[in-house]
Amino acid sequence: MNIRRTAAVAASILALSLGAYPQATQSTQATDQKLLAKARAIHEKAITLDTHVDISGAQYATPELDPGQETNLKCDLVKMKRGGLDGVFLAVFVGQRNALDAAGYKVAYDQAMVKFEAIHRLAEKMHPELCQLAVSPDQVRQIAKTGKRAIMIGVENGYPIGTDLTNVQKFYDLGARYITLSHSGHNQICDSSSPAQPPINNGVSEFGKKVVAEMNRLGMMIDVSHIAQKSFWDVVGLTKAPIIASHSGCAALNPVDRNLTDEQLKALSKNGGVVQVVALGSFLKAESPERRQAMEAIAKELGFRRPNRQEMQAMTDAQRAEVEKKMAVYRERVSALDEKFPPATIGDFVDHIDHAVKIAGIDHVGIGTDFDGGGGIKGFNDDSEALNVTVELVRRGYSEKDIRKIWGENLLRVWGEVEKAAARSKTAN
Ligand SMILES: [Zn+2]
Repeated sequence: MNIRRTAAVAASILALSLGAYPQATQSTQATDQKLLAKARAIHEKAITLDTHVDISGAQYATPELDPGQETNLKCDLVKMKRGGLDGVFLAVFVGQRNALDAAGYKVAYDQAMVKFEAIHRLAEKMHPELCQLAVSPDQVRQIAKTGKRAIMIGVENGYPIGTDLTNVQKFYDLGARYITLSHSGHNQICDSSSPAQPPINNGVSEFGKKVVAEMNRLGMMIDVSHIAQKSFWDVVGLTKAPIIASHSGCAALNPVDRNLTDEQLKALSKNGGVVQVVALGSFLKAESPERRQAMEAIAKELGFRRPNRQEMQAMTDAQRAEVEKKMAVYRERVSALDEKFPPATIGDFVDHIDHAVKIAGIDHVGIGTDFDGGGGIKGFNDDSEALNVTVELVRRGYSEKDIRKIWGENLLRVWGEVEKAAARSKTAN
């Protein structure tokens, strides 16, 4: 254990007061102190990874939005350090457009490049003293020892691949180590779990099959978050390596389309893969009728109706900017409801971890917050609160070994196996 890192983590964790832990009350403080001490020790030793954090486009990693400083982001390097979080997959996210044509693919590819550049700028030019790009599990372990944050890249949505299979290798060469095959909306690779429109591929398309094989060949993790049920089962049948769900919850606890059913969790376990449980309130817990009513009242008062994704896609930039302005006001008003009608809490989040562990097994569960893309819950609303997760896991009786698996070891194992499968296929050819 690197001494600088130990000191930094201990100091940052000490800064977290008992008050940060939502279940703390006067009468339970003595127990909580003991629990906190145990959790701190485990948290400090574990490699703690988050497999899904969104970034904005060109503005990210510029003086205007510098993740090396304290920012409004849920994930920046300062909060990561304070919360003892060792590494994060930043998402090269590209929204799905209706057009599956050359022009659409070109726009998407260019958007992806802007985000790749931003991540490289962060790790290589702006803050090489604070973080480093990791492209293998071994590198993650090495970087964690130095006290720097490990930055990894996942591509969210295979849409920017277009119909050019060589783009998969291009993304790999730029450091991407997983691709989420789709986002919201069917694409050229597979059908998406949302919105509920008739499938266009009946699961994974012919081109999608080639993408899966290419990712296996290169040693990239296939991410099944966002993809339709049929697409999921196709991928499970096609892949030669374990897969991941980089940010998904359990459908048994909240049956939204993006969460995994128990059958899917079992299949993921059999495949050797891992589900990284998402910290996005609406995926963890259905909104209470009271909260929904209050939200509707605010919308009515503001004369605002939230457009669906399809409507957003059809808008001009000016129309979209107008809607986003209204949405910001609406969001601010809604966040004021949190005290009265709390959204999901860290307890709900760990309920999903519990369920995934029960169904898939302790070796197949991890954490992928979706911070800065919608994630954030009471008690784990940004990276500075990561210790609270460990506290809750300790409170529920998870052992140090189990907690280390959940926080990073399972993901690193899967990633290593994906690399090994690629190496095997190379020697076989
Ligand atoms: Zn997502």
